[in-house]
Amino acid sequence: MRASLVEVMSSIQGEGLFVGCRQVFVRLLGCNLACPYCDTPASLTESRQCRMEQSPGKRDFVTLDNPMTPEQAAELLQHYDLAKHHSISFTGGEPLLHAAFLRRLIPLLGPKRPLIFLETNGTLPGDLARVIDLIDIVSMDIKLSGDILWDAHARFLQTACCKQAYVKIVVLPDTSDEVVSRAASLISSIDPDLPLVFQPVTPYGPVRRSPAPERMLQLQDLALTWLKDVRVIPQTHKLMGQL
Ligand code: SF4
Repeated sequence: MRASLVEVMSSIQGEGLFVGCRQVFVRLLGCNLACPYCDTPASLTESRQCRMEQSPGKRDFVTLDNPMTPEQAAELLQHYDLAKHHSISFTGGEPLLHAAFLRRLIPLLGPKRPLIFLETNGTLPGDLARVIDLIDIVSMDIKLSGDILWDAHARFLQTACCKQAYVKIVVLPDTSDEVVSRAASLISSIDPDLPLVFQPVTPYGPVRRSPAPERMLQLQDLALTWLKDVRVIPQTHKLMGQL
């Protein structure tokens, strides 16, 4: 079994509850959604090559052939000083499209590996169930564009909440009270202690502006009706010039 990787690097987590933590990022190819504000379009189109940053921050990329076996990917990760990393982030695209690959790769990293961090759009609960025993932290997005897969998100969270988990929502200027209320009540119905992070959209591509500061406060206030821990955190890696 093989998977195509888009990029591998050691950098700083710029989003969500673990912002600031040092991670090795493994970006896997492909996604089952098509969000208009997607800031990783390279992860959506087929690529014969993966880029790997050899020295953190130096942009000294080497290119590696795709697809890779789990054994090849595990060897690649040993290039970094894993003991100095908080976690290995499997991201995308949607990493759970490669659940069988992850199932084989993660045990190859050995018992001293850092935590395993999954960044997911939360729409593939069956695939999460196949790997949840190997995952330490689940960062689940609810994407508010297009048809929202509420039932899939509920089943996903029911599986994820046996691990450390939180939900992240990218807020657009036109994000409505109704959709935020529904998301917060859904999360609360699974576990009211689950943290929710609102991420004001970073202008990119067709998205020209972020929500107004006042609007973020209104939505946080609304979500706090259902949940105890609701935070507003922008994409900080872009502020810092990190990849
Ligand atoms: S789920 Fe993530 S990777 Fe997939 S299209 Fe949306 S923003 Fe892009």
